[in-house]
Amino acid sequence: MLRYDLIIIGGGPAGTSAAISAARNGASVLLLERGRFPRHKVCGEFVSAESLGLLTDLLDDHHAALLGNAIRIPQARVFLDGRVVQTVVDPPAASIARLDLDAALWHSAEGAGVEARQQVTVQHIGGSGPFFLMATEGEFEARALVNASGRWSNLNLTPDDRQPSKGQQKWLGLKAHFAESFPEPSVDLYFFDGGYCGVEPVLLSGEGSSTGRVNASAMVRADVASTLPEVFALQPALLKRSRSWTRLSDPVSTSPLIFRDPQPDRNNVLRVGDAAGFVDPFVGDGISLAMRSGALAAKCLAPFFAGKISLPDAVSRYAELYTQSLLPVFRASSTIRQMLKLPRGVRKPLLFILESAPALTRYAVRKTR
Ligand SMILES: Cc1cc2nc3c(=O)[nH]c(=O)nc-3n(C[C@H](O)[C@H](O)[C@H](O)COP(=O)(O)OP(=O)(O)OC[C@H]3O[C@@H](n4cnc5c(N)ncnc54)[C@H](O)[C@@H]3O)c2cc1C
Repeated sequence: MLRYDLIIIGGGPAGTSAAISAARNGASVLLLERGRFPRHKVCGEFVSAESLGLLTDLLDDHHAALLGNAIRIPQARVFLDGRVVQTVVDPPAASIARLDLDAALWHSAEGAGVEARQQVTVQHIGGSGPFFLMATEGEFEARALVNASGRWSNLNLTPDDRQPSKGQQKWLGLKAHFAESFPEPSVDLYFFDGGYCGVEPVLLSGEGSSTGRVNASAMVRADVASTLPEVFALQPALLKRSRSWTRLSDPVSTSPLIFRDPQPDRNNVLRVGDAAGFVDPFVGDGISLAMRSGALAAKCLAPFFAGKISLPDAVSRYAELYTQSLLPVFRASSTIRQMLKLPRGVRKPLLFILESAPALTRYAVRKTR
């Protein structure tokens, strides 16, 4: 059986961030991913400014241009109930296709000395430190384990997820790229009863800056729509805008989207990114939280690998720091989600207040950071 200091399950932004950070600290790291890069993923591709410094650190020199060339997003517009609320995104976010971002992080992990294996699914975890993993490509042992397997993995499903209670709403995620001439550098959120669709310009690596490409990604109730054209038809402003679009990528989808309270650890396993907690996509912070929690997990494990503290102490420290620094984002975003669920008659005056008080809108956005 192959032995490592650290095994990380899942090669998305959370897993690669943990892997790169731990390997640079000197740990022997195995990173296991069931998929294969590059690949499209359901996501708005809005990378918030809070994590751009970390992303710069994580990417190696061969991939640094990804961030340098990314379109900056200095504005957000919310289309709801026939009104448009506009706010600045300050500092601006970056728009980066997951096709490029995840592959660049994966290759940067390899460059940092991580043993990174694709198309390997972890099927079973044994032990609580050391850990014994059964995977499709063999068995592995590690002193510490990070679960970065995302929102919807065979490793994270609870009995409730397998058998959703009656009446529980099922949500889908949908996404595709479309051609649009001269899209504005803005993240536009189109809300309708039963969901929303985000649209922002994006470039693929190697594409010239003159290419007009937008990413449309929706979160929608399964009983309301199941394809992007159905989603577009639900929102008049979006329907009008999308009439000129032609599709540039195959649509991808994911379901169900389940929100539960964040849980940064279980059985001495550190959970990072969506595996710890899935934040409302419309706050555009999932990638940032993933990278930040991954780096935090590696930082907390460093003294354990150096023999200075026990694994349970490293795990408790991680849970404490996660709660202090990352949990507030979940609270603020669920408050905003509750507001959007309000009946139209109550929502309208609130929208009017946000429209006429830009400082308040900026404050609400900042609270989700
Ligand atoms: C509709 C929608 C729009 C969104 N828009 C945005 C946005 O604009 N900005 C933003 O910041 N966030 C957005 N998000 C959220 C964002 O996509 C996630 O928060 C982010 O991908 C989390 O990264 P992660 O590394 O935790 O998980 P993931 O990126 O999901 O990576 C987990 C990886 O683990 C692998 N895996 C799973 N199980 C196993 C196993 N057993 N063995 C091996 N590998 C396994 C999976 O293949 C996957 O590659 C959006 C989400 C949705 C649904």
